[in-house]
Amino acid sequence: MEWVDLRSDTVTRPTPAMRAAMLSADVGDDVYGEDPTVNALQRRLADDLGFEAALFVPTGTQSNLLALMSHCERGDEYLVGADAHTYKFEGGGAAVLGSIQPQPIAHDVDGTLPLDKLAAAIKPIDPHFARTRLLALENTWHGRVLPLSYLHAARDFARARGLGFHLDGARLFNAAVASGVSAREIAGLFDSVSICLSKGLGAPVGSVLVGSAALIEKARRWRKVAGGGWRQAGMLAAAGMYALDHHVARLAEDHARAASLAAQLGEIHGVKLLGHHTNMVFVDVPAERLRDLDVHLRAAEIRISIGYLPTLRLVTHLDIDDAGVARTVKAFRTFFTGG
Ligand SMILES: *Cc1c(COP(=O)(O)O)cnc(C)c1O
Repeated sequence: MEWVDLRSDTVTRPTPAMRAAMLSADVGDDVYGEDPTVNALQRRLADDLGFEAALFVPTGTQSNLLALMSHCERGDEYLVGADAHTYKFEGGGAAVLGSIQPQPIAHDVDGTLPLDKLAAAIKPIDPHFARTRLLALENTWHGRVLPLSYLHAARDFARARGLGFHLDGARLFNAAVASGVSAREIAGLFDSVSICLSKGLGAPVGSVLVGSAALIEKARRWRKVAGGGWRQAGMLAAAGMYALDHHVARLAEDHARAASLAAQLGEIHGVKLLGHHTNMVFVDVPAERLRDLDVHLRAAEIRISIGYLPTLRLVTHLDIDDAGVARTVKAFRTFFTGG
């Protein structure tokens, strides 16, 4: 029996067809800009999303870091969600490595950062203050798709205030597929966008930063400084390319399975459904039963993350099929109702 791993969409393993694409990739030295497959991936995402240039990097954390360091200088500040990945889950990299001060802003329940709070956080130009230079959003945020109308308003706000505008679009394609708004239309509102290939898209490694040629040139320099200059990375780029060709439209299946999982878990007495958004389901269970639930699920070869206590986040992805959803529902049901 295969494990049903609902901890994250990072856990997917490359499919046989993706591995075959990796094996046959044409490669070269990417530090010299000579890896044809990396170059093709970068060109492809830049063109698809309507940007001048793109940069392939190992992780989303590095992609966001390079973006922040390319928009901001030492002593600058960026506005960011208090619960955003960039601020909270990236080791404070912008401050540690970029000397960039974050100004966290509390999210509204829908994940948006209220414009009045953003406006109030912008510092006057005065030697007392860091220079507010950038607004960074995240979409999807905890699975939620930010409303397009909000993205337009935030873009206009950033323009009016002379701020750069960055999107942590780790799951941009989930947002696009779920909302029916193209990734290009969403991304086009921003000055730079970071996209993860190794989440729902199912590649083993890699993120891509897109932006203007000037921004990507800076990011390329910072990538080398951060130790991210890699060589025959085309084998990894081939996986990304394969993912873009074959794994975007199918994200709708992950969303449908998350909806089905949510509906069925919500009917179990003892499980409180908080909601489901794109490929994520959020449920509360009684905190004192959590350990036992985890043991019970593991016995059925199901993994969940219990790090978000008391809320459980269950994430669907390429390696979760209908049988995996059914097994999960059954295991929850036997645990809470005994049958
Ligand atoms: C996963 C993720 C990242 C990047 O994470 P890495 O593990 O460094 O690839 C960035 N932002 C969001 C919202 C993410 O979920």
